[in-house]
Amino acid sequence: MNYKRSSELFEDAQKVIPGGVNSPVRAFKAVGGHPIFIESAQGAYLYDSDGNKYIDYINSWGPMILGHAHKPVVDAVIEKAKKGTSFGTPTEIETKIAELAVKMVPNIDKIRFVNSGTEACMSAVRLARGYTNKEKIIKFAGCYHGHSDSFLIQAGSGAITFGSPNSPGVTQGTAKDTLLAKYNDLESVRQLIEANKNEISCIILEPVAGNMGCIPPQDGFLEGLRSLCDQNDILLIFDEVMTGFRLAPGGVQERLGVNADIITFGKVIGGGLPVGAFAARSEIMDYLSPIGPVYQAGTLSGNPLAMAAGLAMLNELDQNRRIFESLDKKTAYLHAGIANALKSNNVKHTINRIGSMMSIHFTEQPVIDFESAATGNTNTFKEFFHGMLDHGIYLAPSAFETWFITEALSYKDLDDTIAAVNSIAKNL
Ligand SMILES: *Cc1c(COP(=O)(O)O)cnc(C)c1O
Repeated sequence: MNYKRSSELFEDAQKVIPGGVNSPVRAFKAVGGHPIFIESAQGAYLYDSDGNKYIDYINSWGPMILGHAHKPVVDAVIEKAKKGTSFGTPTEIETKIAELAVKMVPNIDKIRFVNSGTEACMSAVRLARGYTNKEKIIKFAGCYHGHSDSFLIQAGSGAITFGSPNSPGVTQGTAKDTLLAKYNDLESVRQLIEANKNEISCIILEPVAGNMGCIPPQDGFLEGLRSLCDQNDILLIFDEVMTGFRLAPGGVQERLGVNADIITFGKVIGGGLPVGAFAARSEIMDYLSPIGPVYQAGTLSGNPLAMAAGLAMLNELDQNRRIFESLDKKTAYLHAGIANALKSNNVKHTINRIGSMMSIHFTEQPVIDFESAATGNTNTFKEFFHGMLDHGIYLAPSAFETWFITEALSYKDLDDTIAAVNSIAKNL
């Protein structure tokens, strides 16, 4: 494939944008080469500035669960834009999407909209601290909750890929309030709670991890966290920015049957526009300004275009719940095909999957936490990534990312993907 135009665009971008990208995960630093500049997208496909076509498994890192330029979403945004793009006042559509989200997601009464997953998680933790009047938080190594200071401690994919899991610029004062546990290891949580009696406001986690590859919780892990929280007056925060409206209409709470106290959203809920949200029962949410003492705000929060996109997306997911079954089936099909192709070429690997999230790790070990995810062979991944790219398959340029399956993928696309794996696996 020819990447000439992308390479020129990258040269220009680097002169005025640090590293040429507005989010580090878009860089190809971990895999070598330069990023590909996308011109347009439709359904399951991306088209780059050189005219190459790709089957897309990033899908804007999650939002495009129904495919790119999905007509109901695009139409909703165009219609709204004609009526003005922002007023800084309440609008009816904010209540409509809130009502729908509250209906779809178990165990929440109220929801507040923000502009990104980062903002949602940052605000959720502030709310938890205000509500419990305690300062420390527990997070898990390899989980990502956006780039706000408290979370840049062993922070998952982007940070791992770029070798700065603990970012400079985060003060020691902030870092000392973030305690680090091991994913799928209840004992590590128990010890932290014991050593910090009555000081922990909340435990935040990805209830299915997606930022160190895809790592589902082992049996009893979420249930165990739930009871540790109940016993110790700690709020449990599920960061469902990736899993919300993806693993089930009601996210992980519905799919795995464990409830959290505060849930954060992003990605799918915005239909591809910048949206995040956090939600809880009324007694917690009413702690927020203007009726409660915890301050949180946003000039463009609940923006009409963003709400229109999100509402169109959620409406479709709510009304057509077979989408979730169909996504599961497609992902299982892809999983089986790829596993078979790698196995018959003797490539050591582990594939994790739940619902429409999947990741391939080039290691024989079971991948259950950050340490085991880190045993993957990064050189093999590099070759795999570039091999797939040359076959027109667009994967995330990092071994620590989840593949996002979209309903727009046809079985022919999946077969083409499996065929690509077959043809490059010999040389891995
Ligand atoms: C993407 C992501 C975030 C951050 O969301 P942004 O919109 O990128 O700020 C937070 N948590 C999880 C689990 C995510 O996957």
